[in-house]
Amino acid sequence: MANTEQQVWFNGKMVPESQAKVSIFTHALHYGSSVFEGIRAYDTPKGPAIFRLKEHVQRLFDSAKIYGWSIPYSKQEIEQACKDAVLANGLTNAYLRPLAYIGNVGLGLTPKSTVCDALVAAMNWGSYLGDESLEKGVDVCVSSWNRLAPNTIPTGAKAGGNYLSSQLISSEAKRHGYDEGIALDVNGTISEGAGENLFFVKNGVIYTPPTTACILPGLTRDTLMVLARDFGYEVREESIAREAMYLADEMFMCGTAAEVVPVRSVDRIDIGTGKRGPITEQLQTAYFALIKGQSEDKWGWLDYVADP
Ligand code: PMP
Repeated sequence: MANTEQQVWFNGKMVPESQAKVSIFTHALHYGSSVFEGIRAYDTPKGPAIFRLKEHVQRLFDSAKIYGWSIPYSKQEIEQACKDAVLANGLTNAYLRPLAYIGNVGLGLTPKSTVCDALVAAMNWGSYLGDESLEKGVDVCVSSWNRLAPNTIPTGAKAGGNYLSSQLISSEAKRHGYDEGIALDVNGTISEGAGENLFFVKNGVIYTPPTTACILPGLTRDTLMVLARDFGYEVREESIAREAMYLADEMFMCGTAAEVVPVRSVDRIDIGTGKRGPITEQLQTAYFALIKGQSEDKWGWLDYVADP
């Protein structure tokens, strides 16, 4: 390919990345006023398909609504932009980053215009916690930083500013030699990882912290709850005490970027056998088969990039 520069959908047009310029007065740069998504496309026997595209785009619009901002494109236009970004970059497996932000509306905290600028970038990106983590699992710690309290910054919105909290959690964990940090919520019960939701298995029942535990209600979390119930497991959204986590038989974390990752230890305490557990493996296998189009898509979650 002569032109290998990445193509980005930027305010309605596909342009080379070097032409997608923003002002130094971009409101989001100064005040964190952006909302975004992380979406993956996988190569399937019927060509690249974007997993749960509609739900991700809906969450982008919901995040903007929480802040009172408008995205001056329809959901269908953003969905098409995601597909076009995969195609324009010749990708088969892709990580997609739609972003809507308050642009150069002048300084001052309250934006003078609440109409967002928008972009969609697409790139190759391996599993967020490392490809080997999928089988071997990761070692995590409980962060000294709590997750955002619900009456401070809403964790149900996927906003740029929220990720200052995530950066504190993950960088502290890495500084102390862990793969990832997980946080407690404002009540001291388990919330989520820096960029992942959490699941626990105890006596064959699957538990995950509820949406009131200051989490981002992840689409991978939702997918795994549906898959687990389809296998006949009982899945409970319940608040989880820190000590119950140490006593779980299995634990795993999940997210679009991280995919489904076993947790082998927390705070250097082995979870179960300290290896990927059987229910984790079963759900992980089912998840990868689904996103790669190798099992029946009963829920209509695969959105093919090129219409057949
Ligand atoms: N929690 C946080 C804080 C996240 O950043 C993510 C990644 N978007 C998740 C959970 C998982 O969400 P999803 O499965 O929708 O990617």
